[in-house]
Amino acid sequence: MPRLTRVESSAGATPVNAYLVEGDDCVVVIDGTLTVSGGRALRERVAATGKPLAAVILTHAHPDHYGGAGEVVAGSDAPIVAAAGVDAVIRRDDALKEEILRPMFGDEWPRERAFPTQLVDDGAELRFGDIELTVDELGPGESHHDTVWSLAGGTNVFSGDQAYNHMHSYLADGHWEQWLRNIDTLSAELQRDTVLHPGHGEPAGVELLAWQRAYIERFVDAVGSADWEHEDRAKAAIAAAMADFLPTEELRFLMELSIEPVAAELGVR
Ligand SMILES: [Zn+2]
Repeated sequence: MPRLTRVESSAGATPVNAYLVEGDDCVVVIDGTLTVSGGRALRERVAATGKPLAAVILTHAHPDHYGGAGEVVAGSDAPIVAAAGVDAVIRRDDALKEEILRPMFGDEWPRERAFPTQLVDDGAELRFGDIELTVDELGPGESHHDTVWSLAGGTNVFSGDQAYNHMHSYLADGHWEQWLRNIDTLSAELQRDTVLHPGHGEPAGVELLAWQRAYIERFVDAVGSADWEHEDRAKAAIAAAMADFLPTEELRFLMELSIEPVAAELGVR
């Protein structure tokens, strides 16, 4: 059974996970974190195993999961693997992410981002020595294109951002209805003893999906019921409602970035 290690990068107060899957004779990395230092730390963790990097796999199309991937594969010929839909969104939106993230993260946001070099179809099974991973393509949800990856030989699922482990969440891509449907699909399909290895926070059981559903519903309700006659007050009321639901500052800025897009999508603003 391959050995799993969660590696959290918190550069720029943005905690995000990547995972090392260490097999008998190689290592697969799941997601690349956001930053140069996050990607380098992953490369060093792989080097410390003494085993070659076989691949970096990207769960979804958000920059906190692909930004550092180029640093992870630097000096190796390991592919960056993603579903075609994830690859397409990364390439389409990368210039926009550059505009948003450069001022926030400076040189920690890589000057050149590496894009996927190997594309896979829904249901593809990839084998790297004794590591076997299967992709389940969900489509739009938390990002414009989401996948989850299951590790054979147990009930471990790399679930990307389908469920954040009690951190504020990003809904600005506007697909929360599909996201809720994806949560339902996963809740129905995953075995009850599945361990989710999420993009943010500690590993958890499948009950985390129900928590994420409640978070999404609370947020959309708060945006929809706010008094948008007074925009600043509306935003403050939404942030306060979410701070009440989840009293943590972690990734609060992602929630705040989501207020205007969700209000626009709901037609309340
Ligand atoms: Zn994320």
